[in-house]
Amino acid sequence: MKRVIVVGGGITGLSAAYALLKRAQQRGQALSISVLERERAWGGKIATQRVRLEGMHDAFVIEGGPDTFLATKPWGVALCKELGLGERLHGTNPQQRSTYVLQGGRLQPLPDGLTMMIPTQIKPMLATGLLSWPAKLRMGADFFIPPQPLNGDESLGAFVTRRLGRDVYERLIEPLMSGIYAGDGDHLSLQATFPYLRDLELQHGGLVRGALATRRKLARQGQASSAPGSRSAFLTPTTGLAEIVEALVERLQAGGVELRSGAAAMSVQPAGSGYALILENGERELVDGLVLAAPAFASGALLAELDPTLAAELKAIEYVSTATVSLAYRQEDLKRPLDGYGYVIPRREGRQALACTWTSTKFPHRAPQGYALLRVFIGRAGQQAEIPWDEAGLLQLARRELAETLDLTAEPVLWRTFLWKDAMPQYNLGHPARLQRIDAALQPWPALALAGNGYRGIGIPDCIRSAELAAEAVLSAM
Ligand SMILES: Cc1cc2nc3c(=O)[nH]c(=O)nc-3n(C[C@H](O)[C@H](O)[C@H](O)COP(=O)(O)OP(=O)(O)OC[C@H]3O[C@@H](n4cnc5c(N)ncnc54)[C@H](O)[C@@H]3O)c2cc1C
Repeated sequence: MKRVIVVGGGITGLSAAYALLKRAQQRGQALSISVLERERAWGGKIATQRVRLEGMHDAFVIEGGPDTFLATKPWGVALCKELGLGERLHGTNPQQRSTYVLQGGRLQPLPDGLTMMIPTQIKPMLATGLLSWPAKLRMGADFFIPPQPLNGDESLGAFVTRRLGRDVYERLIEPLMSGIYAGDGDHLSLQATFPYLRDLELQHGGLVRGALATRRKLARQGQASSAPGSRSAFLTPTTGLAEIVEALVERLQAGGVELRSGAAAMSVQPAGSGYALILENGERELVDGLVLAAPAFASGALLAELDPTLAAELKAIEYVSTATVSLAYRQEDLKRPLDGYGYVIPRREGRQALACTWTSTKFPHRAPQGYALLRVFIGRAGQQAEIPWDEAGLLQLARRELAETLDLTAEPVLWRTFLWKDAMPQYNLGHPARLQRIDAALQPWPALALAGNGYRGIGIPDCIRSAELAAEAVLSAM
């Protein structure tokens, strides 16, 4: 029987094992599959806590890492449906969809009419207090600036500034787009993060023109409505994303997959036509195929002996640390209504927090009646040294953010901090070329595949997709 090991038990590793199991069963192929996870818990960055206060019937659903996934990328929804979770997926609250942007310490509503984060309606843009009149005029120049001929990679910041002006970039686009990566838009590669923006420029002659055309296309397909009741772009299972992890673990165990937590892989060596995987406890596992679903730098460390060049490329993908602090309050302690999904904080505001999600408004079922749940997102590229990364420091920072912006100084009834060290990959300038070099370096190593958030997408659906491709590549090569 052929043997495959998956290293890493986050959403990528578990999805890879599931894809291996499913495909092997479909082909009637006998396959021994193991998943090794360094930590005790499964799920990696997916960390849901369901917390019930004394005497309370309903629980708070606290997400330490991701809190939702994008429905428009099909791989997340498809996996949930296969796992029997389709009926348990909730969208975001359609009744209070506002998002705010912090500006000069005050919350300004994000203007309506953004399509793929690009402004496509004139009236709300003219009315917004987020932008000065010169900034609004400069944004209009997008209609007249010709597309730049193909010029290789360009930073997200440089591209948006070139099309819409620096103010629009810093006040509107940067907090929305760079926030996804906790990154610095002046370093993030446009091609690796938002390649469709460049396509809009090339195909339609400008960003706004392109976004308008997309809006019309979506409207024809019935997907562009922002009215209450329209389909949500983001989904999550009822009691948190851990439902996906729990369902995967159950399926894998039922399918005979060996799940070993508390088991760290140390290095990969060549062994006959396959590989030997050396574990931290000294065990040596012989395998025909390997899926490395750990962060890129961790996979790089595993491959240091086998292929130093490939290892160096993997280790060169930068990751930054982030943290989330979730805090619950009695509704009567709030000084202002949480009438939206929360707010984002532009880098130019100089704050250490990146965003604040009003969780109990965005997903009302995540807090018991009478309570509000908020989550402060901390840490971004370029500001790593300034953050107090210990639990007390993070809590203090989060509470200061809530006091300054929401005048919320009451004692929380509950709080949880989650520190994610080296968690967010930075697809910086040069990332697409690095991926090509990594693909080329993998050629001499059959049935060895890389998957995870370090390469071609950071969101959960992209991770699942990368896992499925890795499983397919390993099975085909064996
Ligand atoms: C705070 C935060 C908020 C986010 N929000 C969202 C969101 O709302 N929506 C969204 O789609 N995405 C979000 N993301 C991104 C998304 O959560 C991650 O990209 C995704 O969960 C990564 O999954 P993964 O399995 O590739 O990696 P991980 O979850 O990092 O799993 C990798 C696993 O490998 C293990 N490992 C490492 N080295 C070894 C070794 N040598 N041996 C054995 N095991 C090893 C690690 O312990 C870890 O469990 C967020 C991320 C963070 C940190």
